[in-house]
Amino acid sequence: MVDLRFSGIGMTSARTRDRLVQRLREQGIANLAVLDRIRNVPRHIFVDEALGSRAYEDTALPIGFGQTISQPYIVARMTEALLKGGPLQNVLEVGTGSGYQTAVLAPLVERLYTIERIEPLLTRAKERIKELGIRNVRYRHGDGAVGWKGHAPYDAILVAAAPLTVPEPLIKQLQVGGRLVVPVGPEGEQELVRFVRHEQGVLRESLGSVAFVPLLGGTA
Ligand code: SAM
Repeated sequence: MVDLRFSGIGMTSARTRDRLVQRLREQGIANLAVLDRIRNVPRHIFVDEALGSRAYEDTALPIGFGQTISQPYIVARMTEALLKGGPLQNVLEVGTGSGYQTAVLAPLVERLYTIERIEPLLTRAKERIKELGIRNVRYRHGDGAVGWKGHAPYDAILVAAAPLTVPEPLIKQLQVGGRLVVPVGPEGEQELVRFVRHEQGVLRESLGSVAFVPLLGGTA
């Protein structure tokens, strides 16, 4: 039986989602697995009911605690950049937020570890992801700037909040060949960057300007 809460009606229906996917294609997202996740993850369950009708607009939306659910284009772009270079087994996400990015990414990788500094957001994200039947995610309430040493090295790390400079532990927890996708810089001057770790150092590629909330220290 189709669960209407997930499949959606009206502004959350398959047709509305198809329009979003078409828009992302036009903006250059080409990975079909990623586009498929954008079509199938019910973004409307990751925002307050009052914002549900806006869930398939290509914009960030508030999720409380001064935080936002990422814009679908950015989620698709970061996921695509992470997947480029081959299949992923051990992946770390910093900044779980609503859990939307987590739900898009998790079925595309073997194991996903996600860290969020605001406990009520993490608890809510965990519930939603469980409801969707996604089982390969482990959660931590903590400061993601220090990574998650216990499960390192990672073959990919995605950071959903912007540090002023890239936290050294995240680079250290990447395995050789591993990639890190992270927005870097102060508000108004952020750049999305993809780093790839090599034997001799780290290769840096800019993916363009972005606007993220800052990566903050400590927990809340
Ligand atoms: N991608 C998420 C989604 O789809 O809902 C949105 C992430 S939101 C833009 C950034 C998140 O990073 C916020 O929930 C914020 O609390 C979290 N954050 C900021 N600094 C952090 C840190 N040092 N460690 C872990 N999470 C952090």
